[in-house]
Amino acid sequence: MPYSRKYELERIAVLNALNVLDRDLGKSLDPITQLAAFTFDVPIVLVTIVDADAQHFISKVGTQITYTERDISICACALDAETDILEIPDLSKDQLFASNPMVAHDPFLRFYAGAALVTGSGHPLGTLCLADYKPRQLSAEERRQLLTLSRIVMTHIELKLSVGRRELVSGMHNHRQLQADLRMLAARKTPETLYAVMTDVMNSQTVNDAWQVLGVSPMESLIRQAGHRLMQLLGDDAKVYHVGSTRFAFICRGHSKDAMNALLLRLNEGMRAQVLASGVPMTPLFHAGVVPFHATAAEAEDVMRKALIAMHAAINAETPMLWYDPLRDDQLKRAYRLAIDARDGLQGGEFHLLYQPRVRLCDLKVSGAEALLRWNHPDLGLVNPDELIPVLEKTALMLQVTRWVIAHAIAQLAQWHRTQPHLHMSLNLSAHDFNDEGLNKYLLSVCADHRIDPHSVEIEITEGQWIKSHKHALPQLIGLKAHGIRIAIDDFGSGYSNFGYLAELPINVIKLDRSLVSGLATSPTTRLKTQAVINLTCELGYTTVAEGIENLDELRLLTEWGCDEGQGYLLARPMEAAQALRLASGPALDPRSYPMSDR
Ligand code: C2E
Ligand code: MG
Ligand code: MG
Repeated sequence: MPYSRKYELERIAVLNALNVLDRDLGKSLDPITQLAAFTFDVPIVLVTIVDADAQHFISKVGTQITYTERDISICACALDAETDILEIPDLSKDQLFASNPMVAHDPFLRFYAGAALVTGSGHPLGTLCLADYKPRQLSAEERRQLLTLSRIVMTHIELKLSVGRRELVSGMHNHRQLQADLRMLAARKTPETLYAVMTDVMNSQTVNDAWQVLGVSPMESLIRQAGHRLMQLLGDDAKVYHVGSTRFAFICRGHSKDAMNALLLRLNEGMRAQVLASGVPMTPLFHAGVVPFHATAAEAEDVMRKALIAMHAAINAETPMLWYDPLRDDQLKRAYRLAIDARDGLQGGEFHLLYQPRVRLCDLKVSGAEALLRWNHPDLGLVNPDELIPVLEKTALMLQVTRWVIAHAIAQLAQWHRTQPHLHMSLNLSAHDFNDEGLNKYLLSVCADHRIDPHSVEIEITEGQWIKSHKHALPQLIGLKAHGIRIAIDDFGSGYSNFGYLAELPINVIKLDRSLVSGLATSPTTRLKTQAVINLTCELGYTTVAEGIENLDELRLLTEWGCDEGQGYLLARPMEAAQALRLASGPALDPRSYPMSDR
């Protein structure tokens, strides 16, 4: 079938997507052009690529020219010729080409025969062509040979382009091929809605464990079998790509959203059947992220990133499949922005601390304060630590920020101590801070620099088994406590609270999570639970602090049950240092007298 010019724009897009003007590709074709010159006994043989404005001679015999304007390209006419080969025995006698400068002037070409180089997708890229300074005519056999050689050239081009596009473990096409195919879809402006799917067939923890215990062979076998199973299950529906160690991707077309849901559920069932991986029975998992898209260049660039986000959401939600959610994407972009801007923000003075007073419940006097981090981002506004800390923890900046918090909060405490020496300061530490082996020394040296007795400093760590499993945490906590720093367990009761492990930790203070405080007045179960926890923490000798006290009933009950201290909006919100000092210097708090709107 001759190629129709009405698809010219698409052809150019495909050509660009394939990157066929690469110099190495042309050089690798030289032996074939030389063979053709010898076989056909012609002075000029060219492999040409015809793009929008020019024809490029990517491999050539018999000329030094590397390209000409497209207007004078004879090869351009070979692309949409009615026959496989465009042959002009004498160009000077041909109505169309007689006035062509290559014919009418130097080099005075007379003979031309060109066979189009057509991709698997049916797009002609250019030609393999022969030219001579004298007229001649190819025999039928020569025409056949020219055609065969042009196909060899095309196969060679396609093979060259596919190097590095297979995954070694599975032998399947990899992410490079997927990107090339996506570019091709975009180039062809495939009109319907497409669906990109990314799947993971094992969770990362299992992968790590399995590598260690079973070694390479069963793992690779499992991954291979999972990939091939996916291929079988999908059949003609889609081509599968092996895009990461345990990840596969595919693009579906011609489906509705419902059909995609049904397909993925079917895959989920099919994939989870047991396999024998190098003799070891194992079960692949199936978590998929799906995103609909249209084949434009911009979407093709971004679509696998979106599928990956959806897949991670599916893994986190422990569900077989989730659709891409742009909101989640925005959150990730925002987190990325925070991670990038944090260093400048810290150095540029955009970080600051607020202090939430802590109050003794027996007399409602301020006993100290907790330092709470804030970031005034120039574009994003106020960023709270609940959002910021998890981002920082994934960067190398967490330790620096913690040191900054320590330095500023202790300096603040020293200032307060000039008039209120009884105040203590609480600092929040994250699990990641314990990777900083010099943290203890730093904290103690900052205290020493400001002549602060370590007994007036408390660090808060969130409850969790991580403390025991974190090899640096426990010795550091023990070291800090030995120097007088008080250790508090923050948010106690928010997760899998367990008194058992508390005994193994060097703890002075238990901070009851807000979930044990809010609802005290209305929920009998919370009342029972909270009272029991307070009884136990008191009996075990810990100082008990209630977080998140928001109303008078909560305050009354907690005080009656013997809770030592409290924090919460009812008593005092996080505030600037000077305001906290004013509160601490004044008489006992009187929350009953506060206007309702402040509670
Ligand atoms: P947290 O240590 O449990 O701090 C208590 C959080 O609850 C604070 O939020 C505080 O503003 C808020 N809060 C206090 N009273 C009430 C109340 O009555 N009602 C309600 N609804 N909330 C109340 P914030 O400041 O947004 O901090 C959130 C978390 O971020 C903190 O929880 C702490 O875990 C972490 N964080 C804060 N500053 C730092 C820091 O410098 N380093 C680290 N690693 N984490 C920090
Ligand atoms: Mg805290
Ligand atoms: Mg807390």
